[in-house]
Amino acid sequence: MTTLHFSGFPRVGAFRELKFAQEKYWRKEAGEQELLDVAKGLREKNWKHQAAAAADFVAVADFTFYDHILDLQVATGAIPARFGFDSQNLTLEQYFQLARGNKDQFAIEMTKWFDTNYHYLVPEFHADTEFKANAAHYVQQLQEAKALGLNAKPTIVGPLTFLWVGKEKGQAAFNRLDLLPKLLPVYVDILTALAEAGAEWIQIDEPALAVDLPQEWLDAYETAYAALSQADAKILLSTYFGSVAAHAGRLKNLPVDGIHIDLVRAPEQLDAFVDYGKVLSAGVIDGRNIWRANLEQVLAVLEPLKAKLGERLWISSSCSLLHTPYDLSVEEKLKADKPDLYSWLAFTLQKTDELRVLKTALNQGREAVAADLAASRAAAGSRAASTEIHRADVAERLADLPADADRRKSPFAERIKAQQAWLNLPALPTTTIGSFPQTTEIRQARAAFKKGELSAADYEAAMKKEIALVVEEQEKLDIDVLVHGEAERNDMVEYFGELLSGFAFTQYGWVQSYGSRCVKPPIIFGDVSRPNAMTVAWSTYAQSLTKRPMKGMLTGPVTILQWSFVRNDIPRATVCKQIALALNDEVLDLEKAGIKVIQIDEPAIREGLPLKRADWDAYLAWASEAFRLSSTGCEDSTQIHTHMCYSEFNDILPAIAAMDADVITIETSRSDMELLTAFGDFKYPNDIGPGVYDIHSPRVPTEAEIEHLLRKAAEVVPVERLWVNPDCGLKTRGWKETVEQLQAMMNVTRKLRQEW
Ligand code: GLN
Ligand code: ZN
Repeated sequence: MTTLHFSGFPRVGAFRELKFAQEKYWRKEAGEQELLDVAKGLREKNWKHQAAAAADFVAVADFTFYDHILDLQVATGAIPARFGFDSQNLTLEQYFQLARGNKDQFAIEMTKWFDTNYHYLVPEFHADTEFKANAAHYVQQLQEAKALGLNAKPTIVGPLTFLWVGKEKGQAAFNRLDLLPKLLPVYVDILTALAEAGAEWIQIDEPALAVDLPQEWLDAYETAYAALSQADAKILLSTYFGSVAAHAGRLKNLPVDGIHIDLVRAPEQLDAFVDYGKVLSAGVIDGRNIWRANLEQVLAVLEPLKAKLGERLWISSSCSLLHTPYDLSVEEKLKADKPDLYSWLAFTLQKTDELRVLKTALNQGREAVAADLAASRAAAGSRAASTEIHRADVAERLADLPADADRRKSPFAERIKAQQAWLNLPALPTTTIGSFPQTTEIRQARAAFKKGELSAADYEAAMKKEIALVVEEQEKLDIDVLVHGEAERNDMVEYFGELLSGFAFTQYGWVQSYGSRCVKPPIIFGDVSRPNAMTVAWSTYAQSLTKRPMKGMLTGPVTILQWSFVRNDIPRATVCKQIALALNDEVLDLEKAGIKVIQIDEPAIREGLPLKRADWDAYLAWASEAFRLSSTGCEDSTQIHTHMCYSEFNDILPAIAAMDADVITIETSRSDMELLTAFGDFKYPNDIGPGVYDIHSPRVPTEAEIEHLLRKAAEVVPVERLWVNPDCGLKTRGWKETVEQLQAMMNVTRKLRQEW
């Protein structure tokens, strides 16, 4: 018999019940018991869905009130000492303080979990960090599941990935890997506690194996797993998010009882593991995307595997289902509007059912699930043949691009002259990143418009009033290149997705981003095109109000791709280039309408980097090509800007330079211009606007602070190529501080213009 197991489910619930309960508790409108009850109810529901799919093991220990890596910090006693809490007796209140900060301590830092959009709390390791086991949170979940009569398998992240995703803190220089000998006995204690509570199998996740681990980290796997094998439980070592074939020999020799591999992300790695003599868990249903599987294709892989492995074959999703929205069946609007697309999708519950079908087919033969297989086949067939998603015009346009389509007409040195000739800007030109405060009135107007309570004409009038205000304020401030303020945009990706074809939206397709925060990514399901101009009317209206240049504002192809669920039937690079060409239509229309400064935001370019360095070049090549394609054919005199938020730029500077934007604005103030130094060292060739103040805070910087930053900037970038702007968009700020902050920025700029 083939074993079906789960390693994790979304915690938030089909309608974000956990989010609302958490936030109610934080606002002190509900007591702890109410939150605990909601959480317990959600866990039970999750387990019932897994049990209904005939799971041999339901997932436990995956549930968390905030983040499973924070839970692991508690379970190993590695919570930051700066809070002064006792990890053995941590209250829920204190737990949330670790995640959200309190009046004395800032919150634990957050960062993205590998290449997902899930953010975990980064463990803070010190040279003298001591560990101590507290398995209570895990044991409780196991007991709850057992009380319901379920067979459960706890899943926790393994010791090497735990150390890998953490950071070294404190004065003393040390290597966090050196903490491993102290950490391992604590893991053994946790495993022992779970085994004593009745866990036969325990899943230990080591996704760090999918990145380029340094040799000493790889070598540590032997020691680590030799230690863990002392606990009286069977261990399933789980890998995902990429191929671990390079480590197959090492992994197959570890003293564990099974290995899980991600066959969605890296199907080719199966060959390296088929001869494994213990349990091999095949991750065959995509835990990272929303597409329905072609079950017969999956069975074509699994059936021969079963013939080889027999009982030793286990099946599961590729990784935890945490990264998928909960339930497709509540998407009534999508079902009514786009029935074909609806039939091609599978969210958590549908994926759970796909696993049931696969298990049944393997154990009882395909006949036992003939109807399910037929439905899966029909969906795959209709998707493959759909003329809505495979459009000849879009394919031809891409195929027919001339070889130099991604090149501007002239090199930067010539373009900038043509631009300066008409722009006629002073030294140190000033601009902003795009958005101005999204006030309650703006949001209310949009909500009312969406509900049909405000007519299109009234909504447009309300937005135009906002734009006029934004233009007027910028003129008063004497900013050189103006923006319209993006009042009409809810979100920088959704706004464009709604206007492009090939995109669809869900009503409840929420995925946890961090804590109680969820995002609802658009679905890119078909070939992308731009039926109508998207921003031209707003931008030309804004331009009509001023003689100063008005900057058009678009979200770039890589960012739109990165923040969506992307179709999996054609390469991501192709989807990205389709988006680029759709944006190019907009760029050319803006240009025709007289908007000749156009910003194409690409804040997500860094986060799209593949996990393995060997794959970076290919990604960066198509990502920067897509960016360039979005402005193909525009005049030399048209000035293309781009913007990127805070990130590690150093190792991708050549690719950023290859994007060849005339002006790049970057977030630098928080790093005291360190980031800009990298641009300087690299001799970044085009114009740069380093952010001169942090927009994340309402605090108004002193002019001395801004001056300090600008002087630092001028040390690494020639003044002729230096712009002055805030770090990022201003949409989260209030008006009062926005004006004061920009005033300070302008005062310093005027002063330095005199001096330089
Ligand atoms: N133009 C966008 C804004 O100003 C850019 C946002 C971003 O960089 N994330 O809001
Ligand atoms: Zn930004």
